[in-house]
Parts: sequence; structure tokens; C-alpha cells
Amino acid sequence: MLDAKIPAGPIEQDWDKCRFDMKLVNPANRRKYNIIVVGSGLAGAAAAATLGQQGYHVQCFSYHDTPRRAHSIAAQGGINAAKNYRNDGDSVFRLFYDTVKGGDFRSREGNVYRLAQISLNIIDQCVAQGVPFAREYGGLLDTRSFGGVQVQRTFYARGQTGQQLLLGAYQALEEQVAAGSVTMHIRSELLDVVIVDGRARGIVTRDLVTGRINCHAADVVVLATGGYSNVFYLSTNAMACNCTAIWRAHRRGALFANPCFTQIHPTCIPVSSEHQSKLTLMSESLRNDGRVWVPKKKDDTRPPNDIPENERDYYLERRYPSFGNLVPRDVASRNAKEVCDEGRGVGPNGQGVYLDFADAIHRLGLHTVREKYGNLFDIYERITGEDAYKVPMRIYPAPHYTMGGLWVDYHLMSNIPGLFVSGEANFSDHGANRLGASALMQGLADGYFVLPATVPDYLATTKSDPVDTSHPAFAEVQNDVVERIEKLLAIKGDRSPDSFHKELGKLMWDYCGMTRSEEGLRKALARIPELREEFWRNLRLVGGGEELNQSLEKANRVSDFIELAELMCIDALDRNESCGGHFRVESQTPDGEAKRDDANFSFSSAWEWKGLGQPPALHKEPLTFEYVHLAQRSYK
Ligand SMILES: Cc1cc2nc3c(=O)[nH]c(=O)nc-3n(C[C@H](O)[C@H](O)[C@H](O)COP(=O)(O)OP(=O)(O)OC[C@H]3O[C@@H](n4cnc5c(N)ncnc54)[C@H](O)[C@@H]3O)c2cc1C
Repeated sequence: MLDAKIPAGPIEQDWDKCRFDMKLVNPANRRKYNIIVVGSGLAGAAAAATLGQQGYHVQCFSYHDTPRRAHSIAAQGGINAAKNYRNDGDSVFRLFYDTVKGGDFRSREGNVYRLAQISLNIIDQCVAQGVPFAREYGGLLDTRSFGGVQVQRTFYARGQTGQQLLLGAYQALEEQVAAGSVTMHIRSELLDVVIVDGRARGIVTRDLVTGRINCHAADVVVLATGGYSNVFYLSTNAMACNCTAIWRAHRRGALFANPCFTQIHPTCIPVSSEHQSKLTLMSESLRNDGRVWVPKKKDDTRPPNDIPENERDYYLERRYPSFGNLVPRDVASRNAKEVCDEGRGVGPNGQGVYLDFADAIHRLGLHTVREKYGNLFDIYERITGEDAYKVPMRIYPAPHYTMGGLWVDYHLMSNIPGLFVSGEANFSDHGANRLGASALMQGLADGYFVLPATVPDYLATTKSDPVDTSHPAFAEVQNDVVERIEKLLAIKGDRSPDSFHKELGKLMWDYCGMTRSEEGLRKALARIPELREEFWRNLRLVGGGEELNQSLEKANRVSDFIELAELMCIDALDRNESCGGHFRVESQTPDGEAKRDDANFSFSSAWEWKGLGQPPALHKEPLTFEYVHLAQRSYK
């Protein structure tokens, strides 16, 4: 049985008590410890900067050429916090409640409550760093609404919240680099994790410029390596985002939790061509003022502005009068798919719905709408050539975020002692569906506040022998990494890494995407092993291993995506219920909503790697709900 190490006691006091019970490391002793942080997005940069500031010796790794390029920079809409500046009924408990309900009761109460509590500190921390959050005329921090809630708790910096938060974290990180407590390793990709005597003691990386394989030893390894939505090939994530770090750790024994819990975001620019390699998000914040609709008639090809009001179906407002256009993402996405499947979709392939600002412009004025969302409208125009101030945007759901990830306990430690996981890379606090603006909150909570308490406790309470890279375990793992690269380069087949990735992505979108069925998942599970076999027989790579080689980088990542995809389908098949973004067609309420099966599936699945082609072993972490009562989610 998995032990999440949730403190016993009233939930409001759990984190305080836990922090008090945790052991500290004397300031003079901190510099004796080495901590590896892989990833310098929001979660990683925040952790590396804070642990460095505490006095530990931190080595931070990123495959990017600067921390500022981490995918966190793309976050547009905002970050949640229960500050209740609006006095609109918000509270820590309400944020906790909304998050557990939004995740369709598949997350851990203790973690979510802590997240809601820490949300208050995050805003103060970022303001102190100089993050330019939007302010009201009087100078107070402004907030707006996001899906699945009825209060305005989302702090934002226009449509560039992630960028501004990342600049804050980056400055904190660079301060520690300058102080000598953090060493930054850019363009270094983790390709494996080294375990010594059952504890994580280091990593093996490839220098992406020279191709050199390097070993690094430490007392603790933190993975803050982001999500795996690119398993779908087309997603809103940066194209380099991948699952390699967490997948290789999984192959070394780290349990992978809820791999099938993925989020398909409802407001993305629709796919426009077969040759597209990336999708673009239009922030959920747009649903504050934009109204979603499709024509009432099927196959209506009239331009949107020619369709009279009484021939439009504002289907979200009609079906969910309480939450309207601000229903959670899983609900909005499924409804968009449904109206498109009925033949009422708009745009070239009928795979789109309108997001219309005409009412908002009429009500608030063009200037206000431009001020709030101007850069998003600009992005839209640059990609589609359409002016969304004049014609409605066209949007369609796309893969966006992964709630699954490596299993961690309350301390954010995986089942491998010394291996901590934070941000989108862990299985996080979002259950089966993440509410908008909660990922930034979680990544920063993990990085600025949780790990800086739990990592020192681990160090203070663990007696382990000094280990450096001369330990035989490093040579062994390094050999495995080199052999794998040589094997990839030696195949000399006909298909590019991209062509495998594209085929995998289509399989996943069709069978493990917005809706999932037993029949479809079985088809995917039959095809994925064939694809894997063909990959290792027929891959074509150009260039060599000891140089900058992007096709080799890609191949390495695709090989991991193929294995992860199989686990996602196994998990989706095993979870014979619908919950949040995991919609099994066999399990629906009479009006087509996700129907949970609490009696049989109130648990987080944590899968153990048993070898290539071998069925993984399922471990279950039971979920108990003491503070939020299990109920059928309703946003009507
Ligand atoms: C378009 C878009 C908009 C979004 N908008 C919002 C929003 O408004 N609000 C919100 O709350 N959330 C939003 N999200 C989600 C949020 O941005 C992410 O969940 C979050 O930023 C992830 O942060 P992270 O630090 O965990 O990972 P990332 O920012 O992805 O950072 C990962 C880091 O790990 C490094 N890395 C990865 N693998 C390796 C490896 N093998 N070796 C070495 N380094 C490695 C990378 O170089 C990078 O530094 C959005 C997501 C997208 C796609």
C-alpha cells in the first residue's frame, strides 16, 4: 500500500504541523549538501533559487539555452490565489473545494488544501520580486475569472502571466548563480537517473552541443521537467516538451501515477493543415468576456456575422446556466466536440466553434477589450489572418496539460527516496481535471514553499554514505545511455522520428483523447507495440552522436513517448469510469456528463515498470474525502 505521508490532524493545521515536525539543517552544514534540480521552468527555477538561497549547493539542468525559454513562459491567462481581494466570497476553503470538485474528486485532499493555503504567499512573493501583475485604476492588484469557479481569484499580467512570473523566478535564480550557490547547466539533457542503495544519487546527461555524456552526483535529485502533452504530437506545449526525464526515472523504479489523466483545452486555434506541427492556445481568460456559439442549423456555411441572433446556439449558456461560458475545461471541450460531431461545427473542416466578443465590445468598448486581451487577439490575427474584433474567433479543443506524472507523497518525494518531483512533472494536485490558472500556482507552491521545507528534512533525517561519480552505478547507467544512443544511430532505416511521432499522436488523439472506449483503447494497445517495434527497426537518423544532433534528440524523446503512450492506454482501459478529462463513453450520465464510479475507482493509480513489453504492475493509493463530500459534479 502506498503511504502518502499525509499528516494526521485537522486539515487546516496539517502543513504547519508538518513543517514544525520536519528536521532542519544547520545553516553552516547546508553547503555540504549537493542538490540536483532538473528543469528551470517555474517549478525548477523557484526550487533551485530558494534552495540555493538557503545555502545548499545546487546544480540546475535544462535542455534550453536559458531558463527563460522554459515552456512556463507560454502561460497566458493567470495564476489563482485565494486572496479574496474582491470580497466576493473567496477563501482558502473555497479554493480547496473548487479544486477538488474541478478535479472530479480524484485528488488528495491534504495536498490540495496546502496548495490553497500557499496560494496566498505566492502572490506576495511574486509582487516582492517585481512581477508586474495587472492593477486596477486605484493601484490594487486586479483579478479575473477562470473556468469552474464563481469568484474572481485569477491574478494576471495581461496575456503574459507565465512570462512575467518566469522572469521573476529567473532573476531569483540568477542572483544565486552570481552568488555561487547555484551552478546552471544549460543545453544539458537528462537521459537517466542513477540509484545507489535504493536512493537517487545522480543523473546522466547529454551535452546537446558536443554530444558528451556526463555524470553528476548529488544527495537529492529534483525533477521539475514539465508535462507530456506532446505525446499527442499536436498540442499547445512548446515543441521540445517531452517525457524523457520522468519516463527514464519510471524505468528505474519511480511509480507513474494516473498517466491517462490529460487535459484537452477547449480554446485553441483549430488545426488548419495536415502539415502542422504545433497548436496555439487562446487563453481561457477569453471566456470571461467571449461567448461560445455555433449555428443552430447543421452545415450552415454563412459568415458568422450574417447569422441572426435567433439562429445561434450559445450551447454552454443554454446547458449550464450557472457557469455558462466558464464551465471547466473538460466540460467545455466535450461540448465543443459534441456540437461539431452533430455537424454544427464551423470553419474549413467543421472542427471549430465561435468565441464571440461582439457583446463584450458593445458593453465594455473596444479599448477595454483591447487592453485586457490585446496580445491574444494579435496572436490570433497573425496565425489566422482574421481580425477577432470584427469576426468571432474560431476555436477547438487541443491537448494542453497532463495531470498525470510521477507519483509523489505529501513531501513531493517519489517512491524512490531522494527523488523529488515538482510542477507539471508530478501527478500533481489536480485530480482528473485541472482548473485554469492552477498550474502556475502549483509549480510555484512546489518550488518556492514545499520543496524548500521537505528536501532539507530528507537531508537532515537521512544517513547515507558519500557518493561521487566514480561509484560503479554511474558507469553502469552511463553505459546504458551510450548503448541506447548507438543503437538509435545504427538503425539506418527509412522513417524519420517525426513520422513515428505523428502516427503515435494521431493514435492517441483518436483513441485516448477527448473520449475513450474499450474498443478504441484495445485498438491503440494493439498498434502501439507494432509501432515501437518498427521504430527500433526502421528509424532513420542523420548525423552522429558526438555533435549537435536534433534528430537524435527527437528520436530519444519519441522512443519514450511510444512507451508512455502504451501505459496511458493501459491506465485508461483499467479506469472503467469517467472522471474529469478521462471520458469513457461506456460511463456517462443520461445527459452525457462524466459518470464516476466511486465504489471502484476512488484511488490514484500508480504504475510500476516491469520491463519493455511486460504488463506494468498497478499500485493503488486510496483517496478519502473527509472535508469535501463526493457528489456528481454539476455546473448547471
Ligand atoms: C500555452 C499554454 C498556456 C498556459 N497558460 C497557463 C495559465 O495561464 N495559467 C496556469 O496556471 N497554467 C498555464 N499553463 C500550464 C503551465 O504553463 C505549465 O503547467 C507550467 O508552466 C509548467 O511548469 P514546469 O516548471 O512544471 O515545467 P516547464 O515550464 O515545462 O519547464 C520544464 C523545464 O525542464 C527542463 N527539462 C525537461 N526535460 C528535461 C531533461 N530531460 N533534461 C534537462 N532539462 C529538462 C526544460 O528545459 C525546462 O527548463 C499553460 C500551458 C500552456 C501550454
